[in-house]
Amino acid sequence: MWRTPTPRKAYQAIIIGGGGHGLATAYYLARDWGMRDVAVIERGWLGGGNTGRNTTVIRSNYYYPQSARFYQRSLELYQDLSNELNYNVMFSQRGIVTLAFSPHELNTMARQVNAMQLNGIAAELVDRAEIAQLLPRCDLSASARFRCVGGYVHGTGATARHDAVAWGYARAADALGVDILQQCEVQGLEIRQGKVIGVRTTSGLIMAERVGIAVAGSSTLVADLAGFTLPVRSQTLQAFVSEPLKPMLDLIVMSGLHHTYLSQSDKGELVIGGDSDPYTSYAQRGSFTTIQRTTVGLLELFPSLSRVRLLRHWGGTVDITPDRSPIIDHTPVERLYISTGWGTGGFKAIPGGGRSFAHLLARDESDEFAAAFKLDRFATGALIDEGVASGVAH
Ligand SMILES: Cc1cc2nc3c(=O)[nH]c(=O)nc-3n(C[C@H](O)[C@H](O)[C@H](O)COP(=O)(O)OP(=O)(O)OC[C@H]3O[C@@H](n4cnc5c(N)ncnc54)[C@H](O)[C@@H]3O)c2cc1C
Repeated sequence: MWRTPTPRKAYQAIIIGGGGHGLATAYYLARDWGMRDVAVIERGWLGGGNTGRNTTVIRSNYYYPQSARFYQRSLELYQDLSNELNYNVMFSQRGIVTLAFSPHELNTMARQVNAMQLNGIAAELVDRAEIAQLLPRCDLSASARFRCVGGYVHGTGATARHDAVAWGYARAADALGVDILQQCEVQGLEIRQGKVIGVRTTSGLIMAERVGIAVAGSSTLVADLAGFTLPVRSQTLQAFVSEPLKPMLDLIVMSGLHHTYLSQSDKGELVIGGDSDPYTSYAQRGSFTTIQRTTVGLLELFPSLSRVRLLRHWGGTVDITPDRSPIIDHTPVERLYISTGWGTGGFKAIPGGGRSFAHLLARDESDEFAAAFKLDRFATGALIDEGVASGVAH
């Protein structure tokens, strides 16, 4: 689907990281800005990072206008992505229901729903009876440990096939002339007088007029190579899938209280996620405690799943900022740019993030969607605190 080119000596632009964000950025650089002398450098295989490890939830239920605008655009780009890339990304706009288990939680949701509606995003509060209709297998009986009091539906929430998003962007970028260099690790940055001029890789030195970093959980390590620090913590986030079942769930379900969420894939597997492991790590595997905690919550919600077997589980290294919002910005090194802080929820942001990062690389300035997601907000205090939107909702 794409070539395996020999690295050239120099490129107009290099993107470090062959995940969804890196590949989408390269594609939009070529498509929108006519920059085809571009390489994406990936140390492993395409989508082998978080892009191929996530639970594929796409949503735009954020609180602040800056986030609402950004994530809503990304969701809308997803709606047409299969056509755009001529590659079926299996986008499925099935809706998300988030459950509340106390009046306080429901009040908080009402505030969230009001904010979303003001931002023109699909959101609707629902009561316990409506939850019973939407989720007939959810335990709403008197013996349930926690009493569900309602929730809200984000009707435009969706899923897509994660690998297909990476592969679709890769194929389309390659067709426009972008070189995709796999099994090639960036081990150093060539910096002269405060300006990046190339990258040192396992395939040798490659020069570049500008370099973009899109390496998710490895962001702090690559920033170290360039001599600056980031307000980013790397933690493991795990996910699991069950053995395939007949269709039993046509929505995405989330519960902050149980700290678990799930959806059913087209193959019939239940795709299950929970909290991140609570310590810093660059390992792509997490602790058993988190698996246990997540499945306990899941079974409290859906006791009928107690005999279903987990088929496999895995972890990804996510890049978390203090306010849970991303950074799409210049770095202290001239002509070196970064897209990071996607944390536990950057799959949904791939089309929008790629468009904005390509704009930054091409024009040396942010577009209107990324203007708020600057690095200096951690110094000025202009945070965009999306802790609630990023709780268990990835
Ligand atoms: C278990 C789990 C569940 C998730 N669920 C969701 C979800 O439901 N919805 C959602 O929106 N998001 C979710 N996310 C988050 C989402 O997956 C990420 O935010 C997103 O995929 C980040 O994409 P990326 O392209 O920035 O990073 P990645 O896909 O991780 O790509 C970065 C790439 O950089 C490469 N790299 C690193 N260092 C170097 C180097 N020195 N040289 C060359 N290459 C390098 C890596 O090998 C990797 O392939 C989840 C994440 C995990 C782990």
